[in-house]
Amino acid sequence: MLVIMKLNASSGSIDRVQDEIVKLGYTPKPIFGEARTVVGVLGLKPLRGKQHLESLPEVADVLEISTPYKLASREWHPKETIVNVGGTSIGGDMVSIIAGPCSIESYEQLKTVGEAVKADGGHFLRGGAFKPRTSPYAFQGMGVEGLKILKQVGEEVGLPTVTEVTDTENLDITAQHTDMLQIGTRNMQNFTLIKAAARTQKPIFLKRGMSATVKETILAAEYILNEGNENLVLCERGIRTYVDHTRNTLDVSAIPAFQRLTHLPVVVDPSHAAGKRSKVLPLSLAGIAAGAQGVMVEVHPNPEVALSDGPQQLVPADFKELVDRIRLVAEAVGKTVN
Ligand code: PEP
Ligand code: MN
Repeated sequence: MLVIMKLNASSGSIDRVQDEIVKLGYTPKPIFGEARTVVGVLGLKPLRGKQHLESLPEVADVLEISTPYKLASREWHPKETIVNVGGTSIGGDMVSIIAGPCSIESYEQLKTVGEAVKADGGHFLRGGAFKPRTSPYAFQGMGVEGLKILKQVGEEVGLPTVTEVTDTENLDITAQHTDMLQIGTRNMQNFTLIKAAARTQKPIFLKRGMSATVKETILAAEYILNEGNENLVLCERGIRTYVDHTRNTLDVSAIPAFQRLTHLPVVVDPSHAAGKRSKVLPLSLAGIAAGAQGVMVEVHPNPEVALSDGPQQLVPADFKELVDRIRLVAEAVGKTVN
């Protein structure tokens, strides 16, 4: 709700309206304009008290704002959020590159990829240790052993790390071994998990649910922000559509939509959208051209023998070309790749 004060309302009347908002159980947040003040009404319970506020003499109007989220909203936080992950920033005018294998398979595998990612200009090392697989017979990840490898390789190559947390059971151990917690597409609306992950105060990489709208994704982000964790990055990773030429459809239009509606950095994951290596480069470039503040791509030294997502993983030489091309597009849209 927004309380629009009458033109040139006195500071006393603005204070009085704020007192009434507090009495209703909400938090007032005034925005002072040249001639007119607007007081935001913050609170997550169903909004009530509109008629009472409308009846106050210095109030011109009370608007119910349609967005059910406030903490994630750009209207409330016009300043863009820059997220710090292990000393490296994501957001603003920077383009960040997060790369690594789908699954951590061995120390040697991750070390090879980590060295290539670092040498070729990547900023973060990713790798899954707890894997959410469609089939119970598919490789489920190395678990804690994988987390230890991730931590070690991240330190050895000098890259902050990102890995998925799939369950509250593996949350603490995962948080102890990584710089950023990824919430995968299948868990975007696992509210118990995302709230618990937020409370670790680790930066969160929140992937859009494969069937989630932009609004539902922002509401999931709101849960995380509402736990007091503002280190949050959104990720567009493709959604389910009727097409069968790709694994998912990269919703490029969601990138400017998230950026218009929220203050959070937005990263694009073309690997899980495409499902095919040949489409990872063009979709990465499309994402950056559309304003994404980073890409997450899967890289494997030997994708034909990968234990998960082989067909979409890039080899290190492809990754190098990807980074070079991303630099060109980033520059064209006024961003920089550090
Ligand atoms: C992943 O990043 O390894 C992953 C499983 O992604 P998503 O949740 O987008 O499918
Ligand atoms: Mn994968």
